[in-house]
Amino acid sequence: MFGRAPKKSDNTRYYEILGVSKNATQDDLKKAYKKAAIKNHPDKGGDPEKFKELAQAYEVLSDPEKREIYDQYGEDALKEGMGAGGGMHDPFDIFQSFFGGNPFGGGSSRGRRQRRGDDVIHPLKVSLEDLYSGTSKKLSLSRNVICSKCNGKGSKSGASTKCAGCQGTGMKVSIRHLGPSMIQQMQHPCNECKATGETINEKDRCPQCKGEKVIQEKKVLEVIVEKGMQNGQKITFPGEADEAPDTVTGDIVFVLQQKDHSKFKRKGDDLFYEHTLSLTEALCGFKFVLSHLDGRQLLIKSNPGEVVKPDQFKAIDDEGMPIYQRPFMRGKLYIHFTVEFPESLIPDQVKALEGVLPPKPSMQLTDMELDECEETTLHDVNIEEEMRRKQAHAQQQEAYEEEDEPHGAQRVQCAQQ
Ligand SMILES: [Zn+2]
Ligand SMILES: [Zn+2]
Repeated sequence: MFGRAPKKSDNTRYYEILGVSKNATQDDLKKAYKKAAIKNHPDKGGDPEKFKELAQAYEVLSDPEKREIYDQYGEDALKEGMGAGGGMHDPFDIFQSFFGGNPFGGGSSRGRRQRRGDDVIHPLKVSLEDLYSGTSKKLSLSRNVICSKCNGKGSKSGASTKCAGCQGTGMKVSIRHLGPSMIQQMQHPCNECKATGETINEKDRCPQCKGEKVIQEKKVLEVIVEKGMQNGQKITFPGEADEAPDTVTGDIVFVLQQKDHSKFKRKGDDLFYEHTLSLTEALCGFKFVLSHLDGRQLLIKSNPGEVVKPDQFKAIDDEGMPIYQRPFMRGKLYIHFTVEFPESLIPDQVKALEGVLPPKPSMQLTDMELDECEETTLHDVNIEEEMRRKQAHAQQQEAYEEEDEPHGAQRVQCAQQ
């Protein structure tokens, strides 16, 4: 079988590395490798040499053909290419094939050839009630997972050939001539192999994934919205994004988007509530029921003899939003009062009010003095609209003057009006 007499060489070292006996089963090997590889993973501060040795030992012993060669002739025989497939694989690949994704979650900053897959970001609309009381939402998502039939190889045999389009690099280089002595080199992902660097023979394609290496899977994720979470807060499912061969799977990230509430506004941990009082209520006292975000009914009432002025704020302690991860503490509930005045009064009402309200400031003008004054007319205005119109006009003027400027910051502002 071999060209020369096999020399007696060391054939126990791999077993020692994995800490198993010579008659260890496949299961024993798997368990031993898994445990040791996690412990010695460089991402966890382990020794990269030791990690590599573990992968090597496991790769050989888990392959019956290679194991037989190793048992008989030792490590050197394998290094001389007697085993099927010859060379060793990247230790990170072996680790990866074992765990699918990155078991430690998140990306690794360590230099290695594995790419990190993209995170998938989903907005998640929630009501203020959801953020107040907490809730959970089940969401069904479809994602790519490594094909289980071919373990992400894409082929029945596990074989693949180097892509001819990119010589296996996954990247193509194109050269553009910009001028007589200037060229520009541009790198872009290879379209023939989808940047994987390899192609699979059509007949050898895995029947389950059709050579795509991944298949679509439906998955239901339960998103727990905790009490007091904020608009824009992220809820992350590490390693749940699309799987791809030789790629550390990215995360699925839900970003909370709070829907507007008709009654309440939130600022940090505080809530703001708008309430309109009639003039009579503002002057003579009021009482009303406020339905809170959790359905409780709060009785809100004024103190005897108290007058509420237009635009006045009042606060209730501990009725604001629950504080995130300290849900027994809550912010404040502010109530903003608008006072509705009557449109007009009839003479009898005027008389009656003058009888009970504090007297007018007396200002007696002589006919002489009145003669010296000019007559005026008061008319109604919508002051906000009036100001807005004036501002828009001023900005338009400015925009004309700054027409030459490359970045029309002024116009951006204008557009927000
Ligand atoms: Zn290619
Ligand atoms: Zn497959």
